[in-house]
Amino acid sequence: MFTPISEIPEIRKALGESFRKGVPRPLEWRKHQLLQLARMLQEHCEAFAKAIEKDIGKPKLEMYSHELGTGIARSIASAQALEDWNRPVVVDAPDWQKPWEPTVYRAAKGTVVIIAAWNYPIFGLVQPLIGAIAAGCCAILKPSEISPHIAELLAELCPKYLDPRAYRVVHGGIPETTAVLKLPFFYTGNNKVARIIAREAANHLTPLTLELGGKSPVIVDPKYDLKLAAKRILWAKALNCGQNCIAPDYVLIPRTNQDEFVDALKTAYAELFPDGSMQSDSISRIVSTQHYTRLMGLLNGTQGQVVTGGRSDGQIKIELTVIKDVRPDDCLLDSEIFGPLLPIVPVGSIDEAIEFVCARAHPLALYAFTENPKIKQQILEETASGAAVFNDCFMQQAVDGLPFGGVGDSGYGRQCGKASFDTFSYERASIDVPKEMEPFYAARYQPYDEHKLKL
Ligand code: NAD
Repeated sequence: MFTPISEIPEIRKALGESFRKGVPRPLEWRKHQLLQLARMLQEHCEAFAKAIEKDIGKPKLEMYSHELGTGIARSIASAQALEDWNRPVVVDAPDWQKPWEPTVYRAAKGTVVIIAAWNYPIFGLVQPLIGAIAAGCCAILKPSEISPHIAELLAELCPKYLDPRAYRVVHGGIPETTAVLKLPFFYTGNNKVARIIAREAANHLTPLTLELGGKSPVIVDPKYDLKLAAKRILWAKALNCGQNCIAPDYVLIPRTNQDEFVDALKTAYAELFPDGSMQSDSISRIVSTQHYTRLMGLLNGTQGQVVTGGRSDGQIKIELTVIKDVRPDDCLLDSEIFGPLLPIVPVGSIDEAIEFVCARAHPLALYAFTENPKIKQQILEETASGAAVFNDCFMQQAVDGLPFGGVGDSGYGRQCGKASFDTFSYERASIDVPKEMEPFYAARYQPYDEHKLKL
């Protein structure tokens, strides 16, 4: 059941008061909340598995490893790192300033709103929440209404595990989200809605983190092992049925090697999905009929040639599909695909592939399969993206120490471990000037005169 809109201002007010009273301030309390969060995910993994199966048909293995497992591990790791992250840092200063003890404290941003998307409906909410708890914030949690079973489960479980004085779930759609937009935001979703959120943030001068998506390209150097590249790319495309912010969106490969690469993709497809992806339990389904219709529109509208897959069930399933000879002006290259369609765009050379990427919006991830250090360097120097990943896809998000986030159209701000903590806290500068130093400051006081100017 959606949260009544009339209750939302009260929720905001109550959390604001808890923050002012210092409820989330003690480190021991934060540690307890983080461990409670881990406990909630662990004790209800079966319920989460059932809910996510209803929402998106996500295979259990993907749910455990990408949503619950990572959420549990990162909650515990953050609980252990809390004291380190929150330790005040005395900065270096010239000798005459040293007695002031210039110190940077970590302060919580306040009461925040975490707005999550449906594709990673648990982890997409839990990861920023870990940062908010670690930083000492109160938070409104807004799961996506498009994954309603997970949203309802979170609304039921969170109050049993987390202190409701500091953390509250608001379940709902656009009107409910609009009603919470009066606090610092952490938004995960598409970049159209992000513009609405950013305008609202400007009205309140409130800080904002935007975790968006976009078209993450893959550049394939034909000298790389094409069979391995094909297997790794197709595996990553199949995760969450392509409904993944860092899914490989399209492949750029020199024209003369396109067919060899297509053969490698066909081999990989037969290996990963021996009975075809439509019959497989190892892949999610499309989240809604609206997205199914959108994806079928792309499949029917492309001028490229379908080389594997292409089937659909008329309702909610689309086969993992590879399309070759896709031209730069094809509908498949208009916006983020966010589904199981993999276009191949043949290019003249690797240089042309890099130019192709540079001419478009900065992606969340840029993938390249190459062992050539010069190409790697060229990619790092000439392109921009949230992550630059060589010789695999998707795995960058598995590294706890790497910040996750976009640049330009793919968003701004970072999350994951310490980066999430940084997102929800700010550096508070402080000095404490001893009384005893007063004789040294005579020259700074008015009235100014010629004598003081010479000092
Ligand atoms: P969505 O439709 O679930 O929307 C996200 C949130 O925005 C929801 O909570 C929804 O209630 C709210 N919302 C929707 N329209 C709104 C409006 N007009 N005003 C206020 N709030 C509104 O999710 P989506 O946007 O379809 O998510 C998919 C996108 O998210 C993709 O682009 C994907 O790449 C991106 N994504 C990014 C990350 C990341 O970490 N960078 C992670 C997951 C998804």
